[in-house]
Formats: sequence, C-alpha cells, structure tokens
Amino acid sequence: MKVIGKPDFLNLYYKQFKPYLRGIDISKWNNLNLYLLTPEEMPNTSLNSTRPHFQPPNTIRIPIVNIEGIDTKVVFDSNIHLIAHEIGHFIHTTYLPNEKIDDPLWGKWANLTGNKLDFTWKTTNFGGSRHLYPHVPSFEDFANNFKDWLLGKCVYMEKFFMSLWKQNAKINEEQLNIFKDILNNTGEDGKIKLFEILSKYNPRAIIYLK
Ligand SMILES: [Zn+2]
Repeated sequence: MKVIGKPDFLNLYYKQFKPYLRGIDISKWNNLNLYLLTPEEMPNTSLNSTRPHFQPPNTIRIPIVNIEGIDTKVVFDSNIHLIAHEIGHFIHTTYLPNEKIDDPLWGKWANLTGNKLDFTWKTTNFGGSRHLYPHVPSFEDFANNFKDWLLGKCVYMEKFFMSLWKQNAKINEEQLNIFKDILNNTGEDGKIKLFEILSKYNPRAIIYLK
C-alpha cells in the first residue's frame, strides 16, 4: 500500500489513520495506491470522480476539503471513515469475485454479517443539487462492514477479513473480554502495563480498546 499526497496530508494520515492499521500486514495490499488530494487535484472525468472513490483495480482518491476556520485535524478526522470504506472496496475487488451470488466467500460474509447478497445496480437519488448515485448494494454493505471492522467496531469479523490476505486473526471476542476486564479492573498501573504489552505483542487489539 502506497500513500500519496502533499506532506501535511501525509502527516495527518500517519497520525490519525495509520494507527487503525496496527497489526495488519498492509504489505499484502501491495498494489493499493491511496491518494490524498486537494479538491482541485481530483480528476474531473466522470460524475463520481470528484468525490471520494475507489477506481478498480487499485486506486483510491480522497479529496481533503479544507474549511476555513476549522482545524485540519478535525477536517482529516471526518475523512477517516471514508478512507476505511474505500479500502473496503479495494478488498472485495481484490479478494472476492465480482457479482457471484453463489460464491462461498461472499456467502460466508453474508452469513457472518446477516446481509442479503444483492449484486444488481441501484441508483439512489440524494435529491437537491446532487447527481444520481449508482451503486451495488452488496459492495456498499461490504465496504461499510470492512470500515467498521478496521475502526475496531466488530471483532467478530477479524478472522474473516484477515484470512482474505492470509493473516491470522489477532484477537477474538474472548480475548477482547479479558483485555477489557484488565483495562477496567486493574487500576492505572494495570492499564499502562496492558497497553505496553499489547503494543509489543498484539497492537491490533488496541484498536478495540480505544
Ligand atoms: Zn462505497
């Protein structure tokens, strides 16, 4: 995975997004290019090209919109879930076959998440000045689920996602409960020690404790 953008965007990425990737072997996402761009730098080639998007097979472009009077840290924070979602599109495009309703991997994902598979194109009208938004429901559900997992909101998906790029799950629900118990019941010293040990042996687990 390569991240491309001006130095202040890269700094924000390393401080605010990179921590979510702790414990993930992102060298396995070896040909992914993530571009963090100013709105002016976004391509103007199609209806969707100026908004955050994944362009198959391996390009993500995120416009970082600077708003006067708002701290760039806050601005970047609002993009974290968008970056995670677009990486989700890269993941299903790379590791799951496109639009195969009877594929075992898609079936497994649907079972784990309770989602229904739907690979038909839908068009959503957001109204007002916004143009119609074409999408495939299962691709969007997958990208949202991946985002939730990456940001530490569903430990039960750890095994499934990590296995796609042949990594073992770093933590399961049982271990998470033990760590939460230590976090809540061993005082300040216990907390410090827990994070020390996790940083060394299982940095991915920290995502779920924050
Ligand atoms: Zn999407």
